Amino acid sequence: MISRRVSKPIQIGNVTVGGTAPITVQSMTNTDTRDIMSTVNQIKELEEADCEIIRVAVPDMPAAEALAQIKKRISIPLIADIHFDYRLALAALKAGVDGLRLNPGNIGDPDRVKTVVKAAKERKIPIRIGVNAGSMPKTVNPLWTTAQNMVEAAMEHVRILESLDFDLIKVSLKAFDVPTTIAAYRDIAQKIPYPLHIGITEAGTPRTGVIRSTVGIGTLLYMGIGDTIRVSLTAPPREEVIAGYEILKSLNLRQHGPVLVSCPSCGRTEVDIVSIAEAVEKELSKIDKPIKVAVMGCAVNGPGEAMDADIGIACGKGMAVLFKKGKKIGVVQEADLVRVLMEEVERL
Ligand code: SF4
Repeated sequence: MISRRVSKPIQIGNVTVGGTAPITVQSMTNTDTRDIMSTVNQIKELEEADCEIIRVAVPDMPAAEALAQIKKRISIPLIADIHFDYRLALAALKAGVDGLRLNPGNIGDPDRVKTVVKAAKERKIPIRIGVNAGSMPKTVNPLWTTAQNMVEAAMEHVRILESLDFDLIKVSLKAFDVPTTIAAYRDIAQKIPYPLHIGITEAGTPRTGVIRSTVGIGTLLYMGIGDTIRVSLTAPPREEVIAGYEILKSLNLRQHGPVLVSCPSCGRTEVDIVSIAEAVEKELSKIDKPIKVAVMGCAVNGPGEAMDADIGIACGKGMAVLFKKGKKIGVVQEADLVRVLMEEVERL
């Protein structure tokens, strides 16, 4: 049983992050934010995949000005990602964004920081402080580890916001290196009460990036750390959302769509279990129900797993025994397996 660190909840639009709220899955668009149509279309696609919070890059004023139109056309909370230029932060707040990703220490002039924080406070808009190992301040302590320097960099920004009586804070501390990321989050989790956005940055392409993210995010979540997650992949953002939910499902932290249990196959298998499992997975991806489906290759481990699932098959030679809610309900030929299994899933 995972015992979650209870953080001070914040509200990002209609989504609560922290406290006892479910751990949310977020992503970031990779379109040009100035291209309103493409950005909205991508966010719509992400909404369909159940992305719960979306962040967009705001590199210049035309991008900031596009935010109002984007916000109007989407349903999930919108976060503006801003670096250095306080005018972009003010424009994003004016456009009605639900959150800012901004390091106040990077703005420089204290009066400008004050102006942005005041505007965020008036609108009750949270600010995420995001420290990345790849873009650390120039003044790192050479005697400290990267994780310690990341924590100190984040604490600097936190202290700026707190000194302005602002506490709608969320923090992220991302590195490509998994042990560094874990060490940094573990440390800061004890130092501040604010919710943590967790992830492994620049994790790579789906093949390796999903594994790297799963190890990093999964370890932290198992330690009870993390209130919202982003799996950063060099891939369409939809892949990030799918991977995010799979991580949360693996730790029983969220239910989201079906879970497929399938055997790895071995010398006992007498059907084409790989093709069957792939076909079932493809069909299940069209379904929202939080059900457990088992596709098992033989009569040794098969019946146990199949009976434990909502629907399951334990295959034999060119056929399979079909189980539903722990009871045997029939025998199906290999050629009909996927169709019959999916009909039973539909009936549930
Ligand atoms: Fe082999 Fe049966 Fe286990 Fe599948 S369930 S890996 S076929 S023993």
